[in-house]
Amino acid sequence: MQYVSTRGQAPALDFEQVTLAGLAADGGLYVPEAWPSLSEDEIGALAGLPYTEVALRVMRPFVGDSIPEEDLRHLVETAYDGFHHAAVTPLTQLTHNEWLLELFHGPTLAFKDIALQFLGHLFSYFLERAGRTATIIGATSGDTGSAAIDACAGREGVQIFMLHPKDRVSPVQRRQMTTVMAPNVFNIAVEGDFDACQAMVKAAFADADFRARHRLTAVNSINWVRILAQAVYYFYAAVALGGPGRRIAFAVPTGNFGDAFAGYVAHRMGLPIAKLIIATNANDTLARALNSGKLSAGTVHATTSPAMDIQVPSNFERLLFEAWGRDGAVLADQMTALKDTGAIEIGENALTAMKDLLVAGRADDDETARAIRSVHQESGILIDPHTAVGISVARGCTAAGDFDATVCLATAHAAKFRDVVERATATRPSLPAFLSGLFDREERLEVLPADLQMIKDHIGRNSIL
Ligand SMILES: *Cc1c(COP(=O)(O)O)cnc(C)c1O
Repeated sequence: MQYVSTRGQAPALDFEQVTLAGLAADGGLYVPEAWPSLSEDEIGALAGLPYTEVALRVMRPFVGDSIPEEDLRHLVETAYDGFHHAAVTPLTQLTHNEWLLELFHGPTLAFKDIALQFLGHLFSYFLERAGRTATIIGATSGDTGSAAIDACAGREGVQIFMLHPKDRVSPVQRRQMTTVMAPNVFNIAVEGDFDACQAMVKAAFADADFRARHRLTAVNSINWVRILAQAVYYFYAAVALGGPGRRIAFAVPTGNFGDAFAGYVAHRMGLPIAKLIIATNANDTLARALNSGKLSAGTVHATTSPAMDIQVPSNFERLLFEAWGRDGAVLADQMTALKDTGAIEIGENALTAMKDLLVAGRADDDETARAIRSVHQESGILIDPHTAVGISVARGCTAAGDFDATVCLATAHAAKFRDVVERATATRPSLPAFLSGLFDREERLEVLPADLQMIKDHIGRNSIL
């Protein structure tokens, strides 16, 4: 399997190369050159299989001959070994036709563990095989950082430098990063906001010397493997609930459109999905785009679902690539126009095609709190604010399509955002036992100003590779 850039000007890569690549050299995102599909029988045969077996069958065609069968099996099995639920992504019933798909049973309590645990093992595997090392640098508003650190801590051949905005991540999120004492983990609290962190990471990648010297690698959701690993649970959930025979909609709390695009991948592989419900918070670029046909980004509002406080959802480029007939030149033009003018038109044909599968809506902080409260009153279950955005939007659009059941992706554990949950329900979610010592552990982090040169010097001085 080869991968091509959405902007058409970067070299095609194989699976190993695409795993270790960040953004394509032309500024685009990598996508498979063609979509493999599973037949209805093959999909039906996934019912009742363990999560890891479903993962193998779904991911196999994308991996091609980059990894021998037995090695891939070992990688998948070790990646999900550390999850705290035997089903990896269990379903919980909320109403007669509504389910939660619990994606938060990994070590850091958010769905990002599902892709990053696998990616961490894959990095080590490829690096060891090639006899080389890599330095991961990233910026996080909370969940990506802890999931990436957990996935890389103590691994041979990799080190990770993670930037977070000082005092702007929750205490649970910060401690999940800063209490990891592995010698290859470096936390940097930046005196600035998330955008400042992200801008410095991008600038470090853009410096060709620095990038080559440290063999920089990215783990944000532009990495293809993250999308691929997330496509698996759409299959797992759909067959568990009687798909392909039953018409199932998925509601996806959306920030960077990575998780939602994984649903699109499952659909392209042949999984019948009645509707993908794209749920945004007040940062509603996608809800507006899919309802008006105009993609325009505003300024970021801080909400109670901070992992979705994103105005320019980078993975939407992958969907536009499909919707515009896989024409890299058009994408390159339009993405430049979006950057220069702040807005572009999706176009009538592309929009109609998208709306066949997608429906979108938004929930503000009040609606989010109401959804947390309603679910708690109905079923005694505490959901986190990101999941609540999905529930709120899904419940508002039951008329949007012809489907029998809705699966809402539960993207984080309620205890990760316990102040918001407690305000809505007067019940404080408790941390799972394996994290109960989190607030007693020692922290290790460096506080630095939002100054690129100082960050680069810090990396140069501390690098252990
Ligand atoms: C990252 C994140 C999201 C958004 O996922 P995208 O793939 O960026 O759309 C939603 N909820 C939680 C809890 C997250 O950490």
